[in-house]
Amino acid sequence: LGGRISRAIQHMSNATIIDEKVLNECLNEITRALLSSDVQFQLVRDMQKNIKAIVNLEDLAAGHNKRRIIQQAIFNELCKMLDPGKPAFTPKKGKPSIIMFVGLQGSGKTTTCTKYAYYHQKKGWKPALVCADTFRAGAFDQLKQNATKAKIPFYGSYTESDPVKIAVEGVETFKKENCDLIIVDTSGRHKQEAALFEEMRQVSEATKPDLVIFVMDSSIGQAAFDQAQAFKQSVPVGAVIVTKMDGHAKGGGALSAVAATKSPVIFIGTGEHMDEFEVFDVKPFVSRLLGMGDWTGFMDKIHEVVPVDQQPELLQKLSEGNFTLRIMYEQFQNILKMGPIGQVFSMLPGFSAELMPKGREKESQAKIKRYMTMMDSMTNEELDSTNPKLMNESRIMRIARGSGRQVREVMEMLEEYKRLAKIWSKMKGLKIPTRGDMNMR
Ligand code: GDP
Ligand code: MG
Repeated sequence: LGGRISRAIQHMSNATIIDEKVLNECLNEITRALLSSDVQFQLVRDMQKNIKAIVNLEDLAAGHNKRRIIQQAIFNELCKMLDPGKPAFTPKKGKPSIIMFVGLQGSGKTTTCTKYAYYHQKKGWKPALVCADTFRAGAFDQLKQNATKAKIPFYGSYTESDPVKIAVEGVETFKKENCDLIIVDTSGRHKQEAALFEEMRQVSEATKPDLVIFVMDSSIGQAAFDQAQAFKQSVPVGAVIVTKMDGHAKGGGALSAVAATKSPVIFIGTGEHMDEFEVFDVKPFVSRLLGMGDWTGFMDKIHEVVPVDQQPELLQKLSEGNFTLRIMYEQFQNILKMGPIGQVFSMLPGFSAELMPKGREKESQAKIKRYMTMMDSMTNEELDSTNPKLMNESRIMRIARGSGRQVREVMEMLEEYKRLAKIWSKMKGLKIPTRGDMNMR
């Protein structure tokens, strides 16, 4: 998505005249990208209208930075769409709050209940879990297992089939035990859909939750809006948790869930484990949705740090995506020469963490010098090759001998190269703006 949006904006910035038609084309491309990212059609259309109202053609023509204006407008619109205008109920420590979880079967309710409890427990709360899912065999066992692992008290039954009864008993039990966060897990499937919603309504009426959380699987795509709305119509949903954000899902469904429930997203699930759970933060989420965070920052840094006369060359190489050993060598030279280029690379995922950990610059420099000595023993063919199979055993042995290093060290250097090449290959085909392009001429 990020790539498509940047390309659309880039395409527009390249046009010499920005008129209605060019802007429309750009917005249409962005619309397509957002749709493919599971943002609901109606929402995208509203957004398109709003952006057109904000982005003033005259401002653009007056030589302001077009990319920035449009990117900022999209960013702001998406942020606004994720803000329903009123915060979710926040439980208070030491005072019993009842939190009810609803959502379709498989959306991640039971897992998320435990994550939510565990998250608060670590902060000194006294949470407890109630299993009001009597429909699915094994539901109680699953909750019991999770709760036991996290050392969280739980309540449920293997024999009782009335979810309302269990929910009420569980809540009463834990109120007496002075738990301050009583979490009620519910069923997500029934013989008929109507029966599921009726059951949820009854549990909700009997337990009077302070907050109903709608749990949504981020991979459900365009179905998100209708699903969220159906739940909201049966129970007073007051917050949303989006799960499985670690998968391939693009996350646009979160916008739909907010729009349909008029409630904010409060957490996201990022894995199956208990602590793969994050507080939801609008801005980083939107940056990620647009894919503009890292790359925009990275390009800005290049303009700041790399000497002007080297910029076109480096950018050209980046866009070709053919990261040869020679490019690595040259970048190492830059790192040693100018220090701050480390900042540039530290913005690329994976680059700084291993090659240049913070606080260990001296060791990193020594490592880079060592790598360069080994590369000094390489032939031009090896330095300029884009064929990963070229570096066979006999070449590695020769380089090790030539540089007075261990074979193991040469292999380590080549591993580092492969890792970097993989990162750089993501830049392939990206049309990278130079500073001049970014402004209207
Ligand atoms: P429920 O039917 O709504 O109670 O859903 P469960 O809690 O049983 O979860 C269904 C499946 O989704 C399980 O296999 C969970 O491990 C998995 N799951 C839940 N949340 C996440 C998440 O954030 N990331 C990933 N990768 N898997 C999750
Ligand atoms: Mg469950």
